[in-house]
Amino acid sequence: MAAYSEGPEAESFIETCIGSMALEAKARLLSGADSFSLHSDESIGLERLVLSDGPTGVRGPVVVGGRVGCLLPNASLLAQSWNLAALREVGDLLAEEAVAQRTHVVLGPTINLHRSPLGGRLFEAFSEDPLLTGRLAAAYVQGLQDRGVAATPKHFLGNESETERTTVNAVIGDTGLREAYLLPFEIVLQDAQPWALMAAYNRINGLPSTEQDPLMNGVVKGEWAYDGLIMSDWLATQTAAESANAGLDLVMPGPETPWTVSLVRSVRAGLVREGVVDDHVRRLLRLAARVGAFHTVRTWEQRLPKPASVYRREQLTRLAAEGMVVIKNESAILPLQTSQKIALIGRHALDTIPQGGGSAQVRPPHVVSIADGLSRRVDAGSLTVFDGVETRATLPPADTAHLRDPENGKLGIRIRVFDASGTLTATRHSDLAEIEDSQDGWLEGAERIEFEAVVELPEATTVRLGARGPGEWTISVPGSDEQFEITYHEGPGGGFFRPKSHTTTVMLAPGDLVRASVRRGELPRILGLVLSTAPRPAAATIAGAVRVAQAADTSVVVVGFTPDQETEGLDKTTLALPGDQDALVAAVATAANKTIVVVNSATPILMPWLDLVDAVLFAGLPGQEAGDAVAAALTGEYLPEGRLVTTFPAHDGEGPSWNVTPRHGDLDYAEGSSVGYRGWYGATTPPAFWFGHGLGYAEWDYESAELVSSAGQEGYRVRVSVRNTGTHPGRETVQVYARPHSESDPIRLAGWSQIALSPGERATVDVRCDPRVLRRWVREHDRWAPLEGLDLIVARGLGDVRATIPVSA
Ligand code: BGC
Repeated sequence: MAAYSEGPEAESFIETCIGSMALEAKARLLSGADSFSLHSDESIGLERLVLSDGPTGVRGPVVVGGRVGCLLPNASLLAQSWNLAALREVGDLLAEEAVAQRTHVVLGPTINLHRSPLGGRLFEAFSEDPLLTGRLAAAYVQGLQDRGVAATPKHFLGNESETERTTVNAVIGDTGLREAYLLPFEIVLQDAQPWALMAAYNRINGLPSTEQDPLMNGVVKGEWAYDGLIMSDWLATQTAAESANAGLDLVMPGPETPWTVSLVRSVRAGLVREGVVDDHVRRLLRLAARVGAFHTVRTWEQRLPKPASVYRREQLTRLAAEGMVVIKNESAILPLQTSQKIALIGRHALDTIPQGGGSAQVRPPHVVSIADGLSRRVDAGSLTVFDGVETRATLPPADTAHLRDPENGKLGIRIRVFDASGTLTATRHSDLAEIEDSQDGWLEGAERIEFEAVVELPEATTVRLGARGPGEWTISVPGSDEQFEITYHEGPGGGFFRPKSHTTTVMLAPGDLVRASVRRGELPRILGLVLSTAPRPAAATIAGAVRVAQAADTSVVVVGFTPDQETEGLDKTTLALPGDQDALVAAVATAANKTIVVVNSATPILMPWLDLVDAVLFAGLPGQEAGDAVAAALTGEYLPEGRLVTTFPAHDGEGPSWNVTPRHGDLDYAEGSSVGYRGWYGATTPPAFWFGHGLGYAEWDYESAELVSSAGQEGYRVRVSVRNTGTHPGRETVQVYARPHSESDPIRLAGWSQIALSPGERATVDVRCDPRVLRRWVREHDRWAPLEGLDLIVARGLGDVRATIPVSA
């Protein structure tokens, strides 16, 4: 690991510093200085540490309006590559993004499991499988930390859904904990030694995550001998003595926290030993030493690729395209022939969704739509693009390409701040139509904030105009005023996550002045102006799409969720596509010659039209180069060789753990360790698509599979001979599952290997089974025991088993 300083000398320096500090000085370091940075302390040479969210890019120390940064494909899309080298590259890229903005700690990866497909933050997390999640996370952490930037696997523990997220009590038995939810953390700690971890919002078996003495002190720091730092999720800590004694090391965010209020007092009152505080400080200083903010101070690299550089654009296109999954491909209609007449249909073709909602959001340099990506690759004149039915429940901030600041004439909006007496106290140009009102103090003392812009429309147009974010609003356009209130979303960061919007339909002419003004409210909030074209009636849209489809050789329909459906802070209630998208697909597929559906969502959707369509590409949330990546995958320029990381139910309600709504505050993880495919296996109703499923463009023959080493030291190793019998090159992911003979132990992924082959080529790959999944937790004795008696199953997802190898105990 490329820590700036680590080892006996650094440790002894840390001890000397701790020994020299007063209790107050030590306690001060253990709460954030502000939202995303920690206190410096000149007396010991400690610099200010800067933190940033990380799963899909390094946003920087603000929520909106920060630096433009690389927007990566979402975590589950990256995970669909099953490619450790790709995840290491992602870690490396994120480290460069962090270094470019002098950030020491990245708040990722998210390694909670895809327990229910309804979970709001699935898009941020890798998969439903603990081994896949843990190993991919380890590669990501290594990539980051090799460049001296700390990773922070999160959220520890049992944070698989968002309903009642700050109070929910996840009831998880020991088997479920050990064999499923703790396992990715165990793997990442063992394989990559992350320098920080984040404790979650929820409770586990009655205790808040931030007060989990059995899990933090007991398992993580005790049993696993973790020497890094555990910070709290933002505003998750409710106590001082209880959390400090339980093993929490740092409370975020600052400046005021339960620890600033009473940690010192708790020590003086004998509720917390000073040695406990010392250990938290030790871990904090160790983190600072590792990232070069203490002991050995780092210099920051200057010349790094810019987010919109050709290098980054190609890298991000490849990373996204290679994770996409070909779910269905009848008569090998994909890769798409670019010389034919193609109809590209759907709102997501034009308004392609690059990322989910919430704290993982990044401000990208651009987002390439699928319409733009495909038009660059097909023959001129052969592509017709047709907008689809409405998909968004709440609207995003206005696109400032259609707004001009009335004061300076630049694209963007004018923001003015007034105090209680109505006096203008500050004014600014903004090139985004939204702001975070707690940012850098310039809005302090504001009684009213006003957003103003001149609309730039080619002609008089009916639009939806309004605002986004909680508060009492007034919107004015020539000749009319409207007043309304947008309410807060409950829970921490209630003004931040899922800001609601309110709009009314009005007619605007080119040059009209629009003004939205909001009164002072609770901080922090995200506030913005909304302007979007009014939707056409669904029936007319569908009829238009059918006409376009009939005139084409092949129709590509793009469907999906939006960031208000795949978001932090909210679980879904259905996997059905929002709006009239299903009706659109069915109508197009019935009328079209050939139909390909591109799914622009991170999580499973229902596909009632599956039998009507020829192909389905599951494209995830592909980041800033979204449209180029989708087009490159469709045409075969990059191979969409992803394999699913979540099992797709055929209907709502199916699967081992569908429910995400707590009962009287409890969410019962009754399925134990049988998460996802583990619980689906053997059920009477099979899923629509299994975890591990993915066709790619090649065809694969598994010629032989044999066990080449058994238990003992080296562990099981399976040798598989595969041949690409198709006409396209491909990268095969050979998966091995262990099926224990005992009925109480679920089937589980034991290992995988990847091999890229050209048509006709044959190769042999070895798959090593990871001993960490070939064991069972014996509750009665509180320890692991090896699984005795199992079959090893070689499969392309459990719906396509190629060989079964019995293994004697
Ligand atoms: C999220 C964390 C995130 C933090 C800081 C919280 O709401 O749960 O994942 O790192 O905010 O933005």
